[in-house]
Amino acid sequence: MSLYGKHDQEERNTLDPIFGSFSEDHPLPKYKLNERPVEPRIAYQVVKDQHLDEGNARLNLATFCQTYMEPDAVKLMSETFDKNAIDKSEYPRTAEIENRCVNIIANLWHAPKDEEFMGTSTVGSSEACMLGGMAMKFSWKQRAAKLGLDVKAKRPNLVISSGYQVCWEKFCTYWDVEMRTVPMDWEHQSLDLNHVLDYVDEYTIGIVGIMGITYTGRYDDIEALDKLVEEYNQHTDYKVHIHADAASGGFYTPFMEPDLKWDFRLKNVISINASGHKYGLVYPGIGWVLWRDQKCVPEKLIFRVSYLGGEMPTMAINFSRGASQIIGQYYNFIRYGFEGYHDIHKHKRTHDVAVYLAQEIEKLGLFEIVNDGSRLPIVCYRHKEDKDHEWTLYDLADRLAMKGWQVPAYPLPKDLDQIEVQRIVVRADFGMGMAHDFVEDMKDAIKELNGAHLVFRTIALKVVTLRNKK
Ligand SMILES: *Cc1c(COP(=O)(O)O)cnc(C)c1O
Repeated sequence: MSLYGKHDQEERNTLDPIFGSFSEDHPLPKYKLNERPVEPRIAYQVVKDQHLDEGNARLNLATFCQTYMEPDAVKLMSETFDKNAIDKSEYPRTAEIENRCVNIIANLWHAPKDEEFMGTSTVGSSEACMLGGMAMKFSWKQRAAKLGLDVKAKRPNLVISSGYQVCWEKFCTYWDVEMRTVPMDWEHQSLDLNHVLDYVDEYTIGIVGIMGITYTGRYDDIEALDKLVEEYNQHTDYKVHIHADAASGGFYTPFMEPDLKWDFRLKNVISINASGHKYGLVYPGIGWVLWRDQKCVPEKLIFRVSYLGGEMPTMAINFSRGASQIIGQYYNFIRYGFEGYHDIHKHKRTHDVAVYLAQEIEKLGLFEIVNDGSRLPIVCYRHKEDKDHEWTLYDLADRLAMKGWQVPAYPLPKDLDQIEVQRIVVRADFGMGMAHDFVEDMKDAIKELNGAHLVFRTIALKVVTLRNKK
């Protein structure tokens, strides 16, 4: 975050180039511009050295975001850093590549042939959800006003499970929408279908189904939700629609569970987002949002930019943005094809590694598996309730960090927040060999924690108290 000033600027205000070059002899101020330029080599080394202690991104098991791309993809992307995605006229081929990606994704998500899908790339799923939410809000308002509802009498609302990602809270705050969260229970840990409709009324702009709850990796049952919504819509003029937040599942489920219906095969799913930089296998930041039909996006939200002497419709929050991520996405589509994505996710990689890890962790006898990696390759576990344990998952996270692994521990969202879990996100670059090493390191870490329980117990208690205070 760059939003704060440093109070101790005076004490620690210089960067000290090392490596003994004559021109490196001058300290550079950290918090204000240097008077004079420095050689590129020195600037490179000084900046590079800043991240020495930041850990290895591939050992970061906390993130869904891509931490590896092939050298050819990196070459291609770095050769196209100069392209601005919004300059459609200047870079018409790039615009066409984005268009092809939207078509490829529409096909993957089964956009119906008799409707006219539309979609766009974004910076990530957060921008994509923002656009999806805006389209729902604006089209709800048009529909409801036409039906004679006093649209100003109450705030419109959005219905979502309490396992939502923070981007939906942002959407609701920025757009003055009431967020109605359906509590999750321990048994389902996803959208509660017995109660979801209790939250819906004529002010509901839409229901969000999540394909991959960030905390645990569970899927909402969108097919069942679609049935409920279909029934509900039979009996009201105020139709509700579904947006599928498939940030992580959008580029996973189509390859791994092609028969699972969660996408545009379901009549009431009108829009879907996914992160290209999660299982789309591109470095951050790229996301996608698609609508099953152009009718779902009010004309008011579409802006036109010049394109080859004419105009091209765009829908985005940003204006200028690098195009190289779009090009990286297209590279991956071409390079891997359907089978390639399937193989990366299945054979001895994401899926198989996740299932292996879950089995090994279960064998340790200490943990209850919350998500076993059999769907999204996310392994999530908690301490067994009936077992006395003298250290917390936060202690285990600290121990694993000593070996370079970053594995977060955190409480589940509201209503289940008394439960602490640890989560491993398995990505394409986390191979079976690394998984074996990880299990070894985890066993060592546990042995060390058990051996040191007296010391750790006091620290653990302190950590827990501190965390609770936050
Ligand atoms: C990651 C995630 C987001 C946000 O995606 P970004 O691409 O990081 O902006 C939104 N929803 C869900 C379910 C996610 O997992």
